[in-house]
Amino acid sequence: LLSYIWMNMDHNGETEDTSVSLLSPKRLRGKVAVITGGARGIGAATARVFAENGAHVVIADILDEVGASLADSIEGRYVHCDVSKEEEVESAVKQAVEWKGRLDIMFNNAGIAGFGGSITNIKMDKMMTLLAINLNGVVHGVKHAARTMIAGKHGGTIICSSSSAAIMGGLASHSYTMSKEAILGLSRSTACELGVYGIRVNCISPHGVPSEMLVSEYRKFLGNMELRPDEVSSIVGERGSLLHGRGGTLEDVAQAVLFLASDESGFITGHNLVIDGGYTSACSQMS
Ligand code: NAD
Repeated sequence: LLSYIWMNMDHNGETEDTSVSLLSPKRLRGKVAVITGGARGIGAATARVFAENGAHVVIADILDEVGASLADSIEGRYVHCDVSKEEEVESAVKQAVEWKGRLDIMFNNAGIAGFGGSITNIKMDKMMTLLAINLNGVVHGVKHAARTMIAGKHGGTIICSSSSAAIMGGLASHSYTMSKEAILGLSRSTACELGVYGIRVNCISPHGVPSEMLVSEYRKFLGNMELRPDEVSSIVGERGSLLHGRGGTLEDVAQAVLFLASDESGFITGHNLVIDGGYTSACSQMS
């Protein structure tokens, strides 16, 4: 308790924020974060959790209206950024530094699904379109976050969004699976290079979280355009979770990202944190 009070005192001996509960200290107090694809879904949930934990958040997305509105609500910043364009990712990182003087956290979360079908009919142009966002977008994010963090000389944490599809075949399209597997390799190799600068690089691999992306994929897959997010969650829970049929939530993923973004995970790098209710480790039990 004393150390908690000490952490939250300013230099005049006053407590800084009395609204923070003892069970929920601000784990990212004063940190500056960029979240690509932060306008909705997992990125938006993470933006809220980061802000609640004291971070200054830059939302980098192509959904300008919704992204700007979310940024306003969390006293953050919105930057239009198509992650497939390197100069736009570089600019998003620069704007974070111009705003608050540093970059501590980069969450490379933007991604798209789709472009499925048989490998015998794979369309290379569509595959490259997906890779430009899901893979090149992450490379751009790691590159410019690393440059900025190295120059800042205070370390940092980079989190990349992979997927259960990188672990198990047949969950998603070939292009998507390829992109997410490549992100695991990139994160491991850059963790090796950047550790010397105190920069950690980790991945998350969520499974079956009812974002707009997943709900839309399920609607197409099941041919039911009326399917609701809670129904998708139930289906995922029944088929893919060891936790009494509970499906994952956006908040589950956001809390895992918070852990990797915070100093509490300070000795974890090159890791892939799977958030799947046990699905990928126990799939043989599933029907
Ligand atoms: P979502 O569609 O709700 O969110 C994706 C976000 O990325 C949107 O805000 C979208 O506008 C943004 N985006 C798309 N293309 C972009 C581009 N070119 N530049 C910048 N932003 C762009 O989906 P989500 O489920 O929240 O997905 C977030 C990440 O999580 C993705 O990388 C996805 O592959 C990954 N993921 C999700 C699940 C899941 O179950 N939902 C599972 C595994 C991995």
